[in-house]
Amino acid sequence: MKNKNKIGIIICDRYRMCAGGKCLRSFHDREGAFSIYKKDEELELVGYTTCGGCPGGNIEYAPEEMVKNGVQIIHLATGFIVGYPPCPYITFFRDFINEKYGIEVVIGTHPIPQKYYKVHTKLGTWDSPEWREIIQPVLANEKIRLSYD
Ligand code: SF4
Repeated sequence: MKNKNKIGIIICDRYRMCAGGKCLRSFHDREGAFSIYKKDEELELVGYTTCGGCPGGNIEYAPEEMVKNGVQIIHLATGFIVGYPPCPYITFFRDFINEKYGIEVVIGTHPIPQKYYKVHTKLGTWDSPEWREIIQPVLANEKIRLSYD
């Protein structure tokens, strides 16, 4: 029998008007952070919301709703990583959700779009060892990054 993973996505509120196109495309195509799931593993999206705006008040409550829908893994969207500046609370949110709800948290959803990659590379945003580790699942290659521009 196929595994079924129940997924929640929380996006950075700066992108609150986003219709979720890139996240849902990568969810479907198993790209970026969704490449951790095998192609034959079924994924079900059981929650999608924003952090609520800085400093992320909805992070405290949104997982509770998702838990009611059986969420198993929560993804913090790639917008947390590529925003100007990236979310300063990203690792705290990951650790908080994991600690309070016992839910696995994955940082990232879709591959980093090339336009963000270029600017952040010039800025040196992700030069620290911590950031290099954070971006790894959504780094992809240039061809894929360009396809997410
Ligand atoms: S930077 Fe962080 S706290 Fe602020 S809106 Fe984005 S995800 Fe939320």
